[in-house]
Amino acid sequence: MTDPRIPVHGNLIDGTWQEAMSGELFPSTDPADGRRVLAAHAASGPGDIAEAVAAARRAQPAWRATPAPRRGEILFRFAGLLAEHKERLALQVVHEMGKVLAEARGDVQEAIDIAYLMAGEGRRMAGETVRSELPDKWAMSVREPLGVAGLITPWNFPTAIPMWKAMPALVAGNTIVLKPASATPGCAVLLAELLVEAGFPPGTVNLVTGSGEMAGAELVDNPDVPVISFTGSAETGRTIAARAGRRLKRLSLELGGKNAILVAEDADLELAVEGILWSAFGTTGQRCTAASRVIVVDAVADRLVERLVERTRALRVGPGIDPATEVGPLISAAARERTEAYLGIGIADGARHLCGGERPADPALAHGWYLTPAILDGVDPMSRVGQEEVFGPLLSIIRVPDLDAAVPAANQVAYGLSSSIYTQDLATAFRMMSALTTGLVYVNAGTIGAETHLPFGGMRASGNGHREAGHAALDTYTEWKAIYVDYSGRLQRAQIDNQPAPGDGAPGGRSPGR
Ligand code: NDP
Repeated sequence: MTDPRIPVHGNLIDGTWQEAMSGELFPSTDPADGRRVLAAHAASGPGDIAEAVAAARRAQPAWRATPAPRRGEILFRFAGLLAEHKERLALQVVHEMGKVLAEARGDVQEAIDIAYLMAGEGRRMAGETVRSELPDKWAMSVREPLGVAGLITPWNFPTAIPMWKAMPALVAGNTIVLKPASATPGCAVLLAELLVEAGFPPGTVNLVTGSGEMAGAELVDNPDVPVISFTGSAETGRTIAARAGRRLKRLSLELGGKNAILVAEDADLELAVEGILWSAFGTTGQRCTAASRVIVVDAVADRLVERLVERTRALRVGPGIDPATEVGPLISAAARERTEAYLGIGIADGARHLCGGERPADPALAHGWYLTPAILDGVDPMSRVGQEEVFGPLLSIIRVPDLDAAVPAANQVAYGLSSSIYTQDLATAFRMMSALTTGLVYVNAGTIGAETHLPFGGMRASGNGHREAGHAALDTYTEWKAIYVDYSGRLQRAQIDNQPAPGDGAPGGRSPGR
């Protein structure tokens, strides 16, 4: 990192870019060629987090006092800047995270979509106005910001996920401190530069890079950060929940998945194959919503599997920047080893290895974290590979006699994020929409492809009940305040005055005849 050609990036605190107090740096590298250092970033510690939180805290009263429609206008300007810089951001995603260019553009588009959606919330952000039970009294509810929001994000959607959190937090009147994943700090730096350019006042948006154990944990522990929004692994989610719980913080967790695609006897098999390939091997299987299980009824299993293997073998593995590439590298050497280990575990547990799981022989790919997409057949739904999140290009086929057996197989996992059913029968589709216990359900589409104006999140160990995106995202970053205005000029007692007289038979009154 002493190479002067390598760009050096600091933290954004109180509107200025500054190096970490320690002066230390860490590298970001290219998963397509692990030798390639892209940039050096501030390795921040507790002092940097404390400074960023203090700046965010100072900025919050003025930001909160800025009318929400005006805040929304800054988000709107930011959305426009994102659109203008879409290609530059997408290229950064390709080089830093490894996904193929088309998907990287999709990542940035999600950030644009949520920015426009939340810009509109500046004028919507509705509360309720309801009739009081008492005369001459007004009753309504409004959303209030919480203060400083701490945002901790993963590497797999390095532009979308930080903005899924930042946009609702900001439009609601909170200020933010973002701690991005250490694998993708460069994407966060670009986003922060555009946020400044859009006109967010100094201190409103702060970025601190550094390790989760140091910077992330400190953000969670800081008493001046009342709300933490985290996306990442269930393991880290549990650690954060314990720490945040001790301080009674608001905490939104978006964790992993073990998502299944069900294939019924009457499914359009070609359509199902397309959806399975896209969901299992898109983003090299590194989506929380990736399909890692296909649960197929015996009657069509052989035909589906044969076609799936043929198409999987033909997928082109390579660098994301090559337009012909369909499957890019994994994020790191460790992520590739983890997927290889799960392949071994599945085989040892009795599954049949149908294809993939090799490091490509092409010498041009020798220094990237590549792995050919793999399929295991005859997987026991209760085995480790049938239950645990892999987060790589490994698909398990689970065969079942009928859909009645498919439903428990799909639902009996710790996670509950996404699921899908391929069928041409309307009644089956509706039955499955109700029977599948996941936060997202798709009919005749794969398990990925959520849109930003609907709530996103999972059941069971996929989260803690909060949702991102849609209007629901505002719930994480706001507190409800109920307001009563009594203009009667006399004492009015709720639940006591203006009640039915005893004996008139109304609820709360004595029953007639007694
Ligand atoms: P991690 O949980 O390892 O990291 C996520 C973020 O948390 C990173 O910024 C990380 O920093 C930080 N972090 C790590 N340890 C701590 C800690 N003790 N305290 C505070 N922050 C910490 O997940 P990955 O980044 O490896 O992402 C992959 C995982 O995330 C997968 O399991 C996937 O299922 C899940 N995920 C879920 C999504 C969802 O919406 N449900 C979306 C995307 C991913 P650092 O990078 O420095 O370690």
